[in-house]
Amino acid sequence: MHLRLSEEQKMVQETIRKFVEKELMPLENEVLRNEREGKPSLPAATLKELQLKAKEAGFWGINTPAEYGGAELGQMMQAIVMMEVAKTFVPFGFGGSADNILYYGNEEQKKRYLIPTINGKKRSCFAMTEPGAGSDTRNIKMTAVKDGNEWILNGEKTFITGGNEADFVMVIAITDKELHEKTKGRDGVTCFIADRDMGWKSEYIHTMGEWGPAGLVFDNVRVPEENILGELHGGYRLGLEWIGFARWIVGARAVGSAERLLQMAIDYAKERETFGKPIAERQAIQWQIADSAVEIEAAKWLVLNAAFTLDNGEDNRHLGSMAKLYGSNMGNRVVDRVLQIHGGMGYTRELPIERWYREARLWRIYDGTDEIQRWIISRNLLKGNVKIGEFV
Ligand SMILES: Cc1cc2nc3c(=O)[nH]c(=O)nc-3n(C[C@H](O)[C@H](O)[C@H](O)COP(=O)(O)OP(=O)(O)OC[C@H]3O[C@@H](n4cnc5c(N)ncnc54)[C@H](O)[C@@H]3O)c2cc1C
Repeated sequence: MHLRLSEEQKMVQETIRKFVEKELMPLENEVLRNEREGKPSLPAATLKELQLKAKEAGFWGINTPAEYGGAELGQMMQAIVMMEVAKTFVPFGFGGSADNILYYGNEEQKKRYLIPTINGKKRSCFAMTEPGAGSDTRNIKMTAVKDGNEWILNGEKTFITGGNEADFVMVIAITDKELHEKTKGRDGVTCFIADRDMGWKSEYIHTMGEWGPAGLVFDNVRVPEENILGELHGGYRLGLEWIGFARWIVGARAVGSAERLLQMAIDYAKERETFGKPIAERQAIQWQIADSAVEIEAAKWLVLNAAFTLDNGEDNRHLGSMAKLYGSNMGNRVVDRVLQIHGGMGYTRELPIERWYREARLWRIYDGTDEIQRWIISRNLLKGNVKIGEFV
């Protein structure tokens, strides 16, 4: 057991940190301005330019297998990268993540959808949630009925991240009603890859954040049979498995953001004076800084353990739920304290804290709410699927 980053990992961390500081952080004011004016956070041309720079630096497709042109650096490296990138709210990733559900596709699907997604030429979204089925994913109503070599999809999806921008969607629909009922929603459901030009429509949903997802409507949308992703009737398990293995990433995002925010609070506390001395000299402020630092460190270890476990070929879903639950709650507590330490300024739009405050609230909801993570964790322990202290 070795609790330090390797030389290679440190080098990647340092390079990404520099990239974030040099290329992304200077765009923060532009992002804030655009979002306040209701425009996309960054113009497509800027994102393309960033993508090119990341490619030149060798960091496009960090976790993409080498056979698809990626760097294949593994989950630990993805965690390290994610925590660095999350130190800014400028929306940029390093592309082609291996947790993409399209890796479950056949060779033809990989060629048509996965590779263009990795290259940044096509944008995708994943649609499970419906107006009547969020946490309770077994209760979906969308149907797909076979007609010759095609399936006809009807129904609605909601809260789909990237649904307004996507060129295609990986959408979950009931394909065998009887089997669906008999297995209480576990089987009889299939995942389809549906191109936008097959006829589905999307509509932006306004949220308290800047990351408006979309509602999708399928009205007799015809999808060819070869666009079934994974097994016929096996889409529910496919979708949930994929979500489960990648959940810790929300925790990683919370850790990186919280580290940057805490540094802002420390800098401000040293500079802001009240009653004749800096607020950093008040125990009330010091304790908020200390509690935040301890919680960030704890969340980081959960995230790294979830990533390490997956790299080690083990099932990381229990740890992933812990990293997601603790990390996202930690992130909310830290951003709240950081805002408090900044006083009235923290509440203004002069500083990005209020933006992070709104973003952090989402971490506790998507990819499975707090309550669902607690349910998963306790169920694993009560059923004896996982033993206390099993992982270290
Ligand atoms: C910005 C955003 C982006 C999203 N992106 C996507 C996406 O890309 N694709 C996608 O498919 N979905 C996406 N979602 C949907 C998201 O995963 C769901 O909103 C989430 O799973 C919760 O479902 P719900 O909103 O229907 O709440 P509900 O399931 O109705 O839950 C309401 C409340 O009840 C609690 N609750 C529910 N069941 C239980 C229980 N058994 N025990 C205790 N408490 C319970 C919940 O925790 C919550 O507090 C996104 C949501 C948002 C807000």
